[in-house]
Amino acid sequence: MANRVVIALGGNAILKPNQEATLEVQLDNVKLSAELVAKIEEIDYEIVLTHGNGPQVGNILRQNEEAKDVVPPFPLDVCNAESQGFIGYMLEQSLKNSLETKGLTSNVITLLTQTEVSAEDEAFNNPNKPIGIFYTEEEAKQMEQEKNWVMMEDAGRGYRRVVPSPQPKAIHGVDAIVNLLNRNTIVIAGGGGGIPVVRDQNGLLKGIEAVIDKDRTGKKLAEQIDANVFMMLTDVSNVYINYGKENQEKLETISVKQAQQYMDEGHFADGSMGPKMEAAIGFASQGKTAIICSLEDADQALLGRAGTRIVG
Ligand code: ADP
Ligand code: MG
Repeated sequence: MANRVVIALGGNAILKPNQEATLEVQLDNVKLSAELVAKIEEIDYEIVLTHGNGPQVGNILRQNEEAKDVVPPFPLDVCNAESQGFIGYMLEQSLKNSLETKGLTSNVITLLTQTEVSAEDEAFNNPNKPIGIFYTEEEAKQMEQEKNWVMMEDAGRGYRRVVPSPQPKAIHGVDAIVNLLNRNTIVIAGGGGGIPVVRDQNGLLKGIEAVIDKDRTGKKLAEQIDANVFMMLTDVSNVYINYGKENQEKLETISVKQAQQYMDEGHFADGSMGPKMEAAIGFASQGKTAIICSLEDADQALLGRAGTRIVG
């Protein structure tokens, strides 16, 4: 069987901090990201690509909010689906163009992905992921009453809606993904963590108001398609211990045990490197390899020449 990799693109692959979220700017970033992914295709891996959607879904929520008196707003599961569609389109087109320019024949297809979570997930009792725009205290109280939203003060900047961030339990559409991989196709799936769904009392799927961490979804996807490597591409070249301090130290190849020890010592920040290392450790502990590196180093990291590798 061919080598198989799941690649999770970080936020910077689509929009860099302080850039304006126009289509042109995002498409320019995506074109560069696609060039880098095409280099991996040259190394001969079956590739599943997943990606973040934070700023994009934030803007969709804002559009909903601003236009709510004219067009009825949609719930979070639908907003995720919208973001997967639009980001997938940019990636699919750019990647296909990059491959053709290199004379590579692979197909590229985007699959809208539902990510099933457990209705009993403890995250539903503790919504803590801030999303969307800022509100005043008065508006926040109104939202709590009118819409049943949970609102939280965000570092003196105002009030934001917080939603549950449950663990992915099962990624849907995996058989289709594997079939496509077997047919010379790069699959874009699970974007923004996937559309959050649960089973109702009758065992039927339905959308739910939640967001799922994209690195956790990437890891689950990598397990379900039996990938050899799970790669998280971000805006730093390596994972560090004592990050940002004078004595910071770059990590290259480390064991699961070593990674877990650093994790327990608190070297990886919640909400950024923490979930990546959690996903990396979980994946690598099944005797596999997880890589965290910069977008630019992706191909070199896959060849073992750059980035941080956690090996099981
Ligand atoms: P992404 O959009 O790729 O998920 P994140 O911002 O969530 O990006 O995570 C990457 C960020 O994690 C880096 O920009 C870095 O500032 C931060 N970070 C936190 N702790 C560490 C660490 N120990 N080593 C490297 N980067 C770290
Ligand atoms: Mg992140």
